[in-house]
Amino acid sequence: MKFYSTNNKNNLVDAKTAVTQGLAPDGGLYMPTEIPKLSEDLLTFNSDSDFKKIALEIAKNFLGQEIESEILERIVTETLNFECPLVKINEKILSLELFHGPTLAFKDFGARFMARVMSHFRKGANKELNILVATSGDTGGAVAHGFLGVPGIKVTLLYPSGQVSRLQEQQFTTLGQNITALEVSGTFDDCQRLVKEAFVDQELKSKLDLSSANSINISRLIPQSFYFFKAAIDAKNTFNKEVSELVFCTPSGNFGNLTAGLLAKRMGLNIGHFIAATNANDIVPTYLETGEFTPRASIQTVSNAMDVGNPSNFARMHELFGGNLQAMRAEITGDRYNDSQTKEAVTRVFAQHEYTLDPHGAVGFLALEKFLKSNSKYTGVLLETAHPSKFVETVEECIKSEVKIPLRLQEAMSKEKKAIKISPNLFELKQLLLN
Ligand SMILES: *Cc1c(COP(=O)(O)O)cnc(C)c1O
Repeated sequence: MKFYSTNNKNNLVDAKTAVTQGLAPDGGLYMPTEIPKLSEDLLTFNSDSDFKKIALEIAKNFLGQEIESEILERIVTETLNFECPLVKINEKILSLELFHGPTLAFKDFGARFMARVMSHFRKGANKELNILVATSGDTGGAVAHGFLGVPGIKVTLLYPSGQVSRLQEQQFTTLGQNITALEVSGTFDDCQRLVKEAFVDQELKSKLDLSSANSINISRLIPQSFYFFKAAIDAKNTFNKEVSELVFCTPSGNFGNLTAGLLAKRMGLNIGHFIAATNANDIVPTYLETGEFTPRASIQTVSNAMDVGNPSNFARMHELFGGNLQAMRAEITGDRYNDSQTKEAVTRVFAQHEYTLDPHGAVGFLALEKFLKSNSKYTGVLLETAHPSKFVETVEECIKSEVKIPLRLQEAMSKEKKAIKISPNLFELKQLLLN
């Protein structure tokens, strides 16, 4: 499989290059030149064991020319070593719980897969690979854990000071080893911009092997398509629903999950419809309504992992629809909710259904609920992107009772934070990276 840059269709590279570079040298995002359809027998979803088979088939379709199937099988198995159950919230809404991995958010899927694929591609390299990541909260923990202790790879995380939860911060500032955390006095957009600037900086490029691990890396997107199939298998076998009756709602910031869902659909998963739910950072819902894509400074909200003012995967979404707004509207509906609506939803869903949403899931829940009111033929699948304990202050304020913190998070809380403070300019970042 070859991959092209969204900035230049003629710039074709192999999977190894796409994965180790992350961002294309022309600033574009890598896309596969084709999206192979899965075989019909895999798409019947009659057995739970189909999930691993489907995941392996997808991995082979994109990476199989460069990674032997036994190795891919190990990578897929290690990536999916935790549950992702589909559970009922109410008669119309099912929650796909993507938070049972080591850092309690869906980003574990992408990070675990990417770390293993990269480490495989780096075998025999003579230089260390420097991975730069901007995080608005959850990416940091997932990437740090995914790469922790992986030989030949050094990870530098940039995060906005005071704008991630303490739990999130503890997950990526306490690890040590090959993981360095930089506390940037700025916003997430500053962090993301710094990473982008570093990638095009001639001096850094000539001295270091740089790569990214954000949702822009194609190897993070591939495993995110797996769980749309898992939802389809469980919806059929547990809830008697065909995938065409399902509407998937992704609480979104950089739009990795939605893009992965669109890829899954093009692989043959006949999803009924998508909902792109955001907080006040509603650039994509606004695009769907007006046709204007206007990135702007991000706004801080209680669903902080979605505080993104310039969603990077939009370039891929745009590409998948060939820039055709009408076609995008036919598959995706956008919606947005503010913080007080979000908190009310956490309170109400806990009271009515005894289900504890995290603030990101709550945004998605509201969008689904509204959509289903006028589209009652569908059943909603909410991608519940994080465990509520990651946002314990907000959630406890809403539900007025205690949220149990899983053991692995409790352990991170008691460790010492180690972060280097920098201001949001490339010069400071360069000095740290080059020393
Ligand atoms: C990263 C993150 C999101 C946004 O993910 P995208 O699919 O890339 O937009 C949503 N919720 C949580 C909890 C996250 O960590």
